[in-house]
Amino acid sequence: ATMPPLLSAIANAGRHGVLIKSAAVMERLGQADTIAYDKTGTLTEGTPHLIKVIPEPAFSENELLALAASAEHRSEHPIARAIVAAARDLACEEAYDFRAEPGRGVTATVGGREVTVGSPEHFGEQVPGASHVPGAPDTPDGAAVPDGAAAPDSGGTVPDSDSSVPDSDGTAVVVRVDGVRAGWLLLADRLRSGAPTAVAEMNRLTTAPPALLTGDNRRAAHVVAEQTGIPSDGVRAGLLPHEKSAAVGRLNGNVLFIGDGVNDAPALAAAHTGIAMGRRGSDLALETADAVLVHDDLTAVPKAVALSRRARRLVV
Ligand code: ADP
Ligand code: MG
Repeated sequence: ATMPPLLSAIANAGRHGVLIKSAAVMERLGQADTIAYDKTGTLTEGTPHLIKVIPEPAFSENELLALAASAEHRSEHPIARAIVAAARDLACEEAYDFRAEPGRGVTATVGGREVTVGSPEHFGEQVPGASHVPGAPDTPDGAAVPDGAAAPDSGGTVPDSDSSVPDSDGTAVVVRVDGVRAGWLLLADRLRSGAPTAVAEMNRLTTAPPALLTGDNRRAAHVVAEQTGIPSDGVRAGLLPHEKSAAVGRLNGNVLFIGDGVNDAPALAAAHTGIAMGRRGSDLALETADAVLVHDDLTAVPKAVALSRRARRLVV
């Protein structure tokens, strides 16, 4: 028997490394009008490495790094892995009361002190040098901001003591000990090799401009957008998981969203079609998504979209 077009399209997509979970998904994929990308682990490799440790005067570099690594020990976030790897030769203490907040960071008790490591925006700090990206709108995401909370990705005043922190195109996380800033850790990530090609091909296949939705800071987001060919007005930074899914809801038409993290699960669910990165994706992202990129190859996405369109022409 000859296979129905949608089923042979699924088989074909599978050969390109796209695992499509149902015939309905195979059909929907080709209806995408807009594509939205997560940044960390999706457009980038998601394996950042520590490039700089900047302690406040009360701490040495090694003390700061050891405290952060102790607190991060049980986190699976790529930032946590980079910090723990960089501290492997240091004596780290056991941490208690570990808590992870998706899109924000971690908190744990280390040697009787409460240590937090996480996003400067969401832990009440301003990223050094992040507030002056040219052309970036002030609150580009337009996300619903809870009363009394700081608007994500909004500008702010940089505390004087932050002037010692150099500009970074990567991610800066702040370390606090008992509520007082103990220093900064700067991390850098690499662009995924197929990302610019995939974005260019998807731009040809979709009508609305693409979006980049990230929990990371605005500066890091705009650097990756520029490197991949995503227009800067499509960038939404500093998003918490529910804000990412709200941002998907505000885009025009049928949205195809690609992400990898636990923090991407609400956006994957909200999208018309959600695709998860298979190798680095979290279990929750793989379960929530409609399709999985088995080899994390973004260039397979436009191929699968084209297969869907061809199959639908044969079906109808
Ligand atoms: P993305 O949306 O780009 O994949 P996430 O939502 O996972 O990023 O994280 C957003 C931000 O939250 C990070 O850039 C970092 O500042 C902070 N963060 C999240 N988890 C951690 C952690 N375990 N340690 C330190 N910072 C973290
Ligand atoms: Mg991610």
